[in-house]
Amino acid sequence: MIRLEHLSKFYGSGQSAVAALQDVELHVPEGSITGVIGVSGAGKSTLIRCVNLLERPTSGKVWVDGQDLTCLDEQGLRKARHDIGMIFQHFNLLDSRTVYRNIAFPLELMGLNKAAIQQRITPLLELTGLTDKRDNYPSALSGGQKQRVAIARALASRPKVLLCDEATSALDPQTTTSILELLREINQELGLTILLITHEMEVVKSICDSVALISDGRLVETSRVGPFFTRP
Ligand code: ADP
Ligand code: ADP
Repeated sequence: MIRLEHLSKFYGSGQSAVAALQDVELHVPEGSITGVIGVSGAGKSTLIRCVNLLERPTSGKVWVDGQDLTCLDEQGLRKARHDIGMIFQHFNLLDSRTVYRNIAFPLELMGLNKAAIQQRITPLLELTGLTDKRDNYPSALSGGQKQRVAIARALASRPKVLLCDEATSALDPQTTTSILELLREINQELGLTILLITHEMEVVKSICDSVALISDGRLVETSRVGPFFTRP
C-alpha cells in the first residue's frame, strides 16, 4: 500500500546540509500495521511527513496505493491526500470548533454538503466513542478524547492509509492502551493500513505486525514483530 524507494531528504544545502533520510526503502503491506522506531533525531518524523509529501523528499519515490506522489501536481496531490489520514502527537485540533465541526473540517474542504457531512460523521462519533461530546470544544476534552477527535477527523475522508506521528506520546499509559486498541479496531474492521512512528517499544509490541528500526536517517533493520511479544 505504501512503498518508499531510495528516499532521501536533506535539509539545507552545501556544507551545512543535514541528511535526515538516506536511501530509505520501506514497504507497508495493505492491511498491515507497520511501525518505524528510533531515537529522537533519527529521522522518523521526516520519514512519515514524506509519505503525504508534507515534506518534499530530496530524491526517491513515494508510492501510495499504486501512485507515485512525487510526480503529482498540486491538484493531484490534494486528491491523493484524501486517501491518507494523519494524526499527531499534539492532536492539532482547531480550538475554535466543536468536536463535530473539527471532524467536519476536511469534508467542508472537499465540498461535501451538510447532509453528506452529517452522514459521515455520525458513525465516526460512534466508532470513537464521542457521540455525547459532539458539541464540546477541545478545551473541555481530555488528551485521549482529543486524540479520538483527531482520529475521527483523519478517517472522515475515508482514507486507505492512516499515518500516526507519535500519536500516543503525549498520553498516560492507560489512555495510550485505549487509543492503541482503537487503532487496532480501525485496522481490523475498516481494513485500514497503518504506518506509525514511535520511540516507544511498548507501542510496537502491542499493535505492530512489523517494525523497521531507523538510525541516523537509515533503516537498519526490518522484521516481523516476533511471537514472543504477547498481544493483549
Ligand atoms: P525524529 O522524528 O526521529 O526525532 P526528525 O525527522 O525530526 O527525527 O529529524 C531528523 C534530523 O533532521 C535531525 O538531525 C533534525 O535535527 C533534522 N531536521 C528535522 N527537521 C529539520 C528542519 N526543518 N531543518 C533542518 N533540520 C531538520
Ligand atoms: P458556524 O457558526 O461557524 O456556522 P455552527 O455551530 O452554526 O457554526 O455549525 C455549522 C453547521 O455545522 C451547522 O449548521 C450544522 O449543519 C453543523 N453542525 C454543527 N454541530 C452539529 C451537530 N452536533 N450535529 C449536526 N450538525 C452539526
